[in-house]
Amino acid sequence: MGKNLTKRSEDYSKWYNELVIKADLAENSGVRGCMVIKPYGFAIWEKMQAGLDKMFKDTGHENAYFPLFIPKSYLSKEASHVEGFAKECAVVTHYRLKNAEDGSGIVVDENAKLEEELIVRPTSETIIWDTYRKWIQSYRDLPLLINQWANVVRWEMRTRLFLRTAEFLWQEGHTAHATRQEAIEEAELILNLYAEFAEKHMAVPVIKGTKTESERFAGAVETYCIEALMQDGKALQAGTSHFLGQNFARAFDVKFATKEGQQEHVWATSWGVSTRLMGALIMTHSDDNGLVLPPVLAPIQVVIVPIYKGLEVLEAIDEKVAPLVEALRDKGISVKYDNRDTHKPGFKFNEYELKGVPVRLAVGPRDLENGTYEVARRDTLQKEVVAADAVVEHISGLLDDIQQNLYNKAAAFRDDRITRVDDYEEFKNILENKGGFIAAHWDGTAETEERIKEETKATIRCIPLNAAKEEGSCILTGKPSQRRVLFAKAY
Ligand code: AMP
Repeated sequence: MGKNLTKRSEDYSKWYNELVIKADLAENSGVRGCMVIKPYGFAIWEKMQAGLDKMFKDTGHENAYFPLFIPKSYLSKEASHVEGFAKECAVVTHYRLKNAEDGSGIVVDENAKLEEELIVRPTSETIIWDTYRKWIQSYRDLPLLINQWANVVRWEMRTRLFLRTAEFLWQEGHTAHATRQEAIEEAELILNLYAEFAEKHMAVPVIKGTKTESERFAGAVETYCIEALMQDGKALQAGTSHFLGQNFARAFDVKFATKEGQQEHVWATSWGVSTRLMGALIMTHSDDNGLVLPPVLAPIQVVIVPIYKGLEVLEAIDEKVAPLVEALRDKGISVKYDNRDTHKPGFKFNEYELKGVPVRLAVGPRDLENGTYEVARRDTLQKEVVAADAVVEHISGLLDDIQQNLYNKAAAFRDDRITRVDDYEEFKNILENKGGFIAAHWDGTAETEERIKEETKATIRCIPLNAAKEEGSCILTGKPSQRRVLFAKAY
């Protein structure tokens, strides 16, 4: 049916943009690089938030909120941190406007210049560690396990709905620990939690790894990440968890008294996932007919559409459907009965397909007679007729099945696109013609990494945590290497 979506095979990027807009997820705004998240898109994000929030709380974290503005001097305190973020900061310089004297409109009031400029937070380590200095005195105050749900601003030059925006929504965890080991364990705990969320909730398989020094978070000692693969063969960094060492504790003078009475700097982690996850979700599962949502995150899991001529038949269908809706809700399944008389069934089918509703039920006069429903699943587009008295059990199993099927399909696609390569020409060839991850040896230097990036646009996505030790030689320089890393073109 006519959704007029560009096909993925024709122009993947165009397909993505059209899909985000046509499925009513988000749209561009009047502000460069900033998007409007529409109710349907926000409902999916809220389900992501709820899932993650529960996981954070189940592992002992609490939510709090810190200011949107960061004094410039705070940001400057950790040298590599400010260097990494300086290029993309929005800066507040004034606090008042006035009418222009020549009547030409509203202008900035130069008399209202801030003594110290404020940065709109690109991330909150600095403001939070300035606060932690007041909260942490002794080992009894540790660990401190805090998360914040917020918006941040990074002045990105090339933006894309959800994947990379100038303002984005995210959560940022900031924890403080008494020992190095404990902080590393926290960073790894969160990495595993992110991976579990991606795989179980989003049905997106991910590879866990660490970043190379040049891809590391500004101010981190180690950056752990999860990397996913999109349908066009490009990788997407889906989440990061940083071990910050004592860098921020030193910069903000945060010390604690140990059990033995010594003063030591506190150890830190920070970690975040953003609305970029929406992009990962869309790009992993959706098809040329529109969005495909895993049931766990679908705002509407089941839609029921009546097929009828005349209000009498509609009333009979309403009556039959009412107890079904109730039975599904009792099972915790979110269901919508769309008996709007203003739209034809074909229109509705189209709309819910475009919006990725996992299961669609249709019921017409013949189903009334036979005591059946037509059940269609969005992932495979298959239809079957199911007896009314078995339909609740059937749907319940079907939702699990769809969730698992989406994961399996994405995992098979991803696994098929991890290629081991030992020759630089083949490296370029695979990158151009097949895409995906390339597992290759690298000599460990930033220079080699940079040259490969310049020549091929591929970056090192991660050093996989499960990479086996293997003697080899660097794909570019031939120098010795102990393990393969994963290269890919990335979003
Ligand atoms: P970082 O603080 O740089 O480690 O990023 C934390 C999380 O935010 C990661 O999961 C990134 O993928 C995501 N992220 C970074 N920049 C953007 C952006 N411009 N738009 C959306 N998400 C972003």
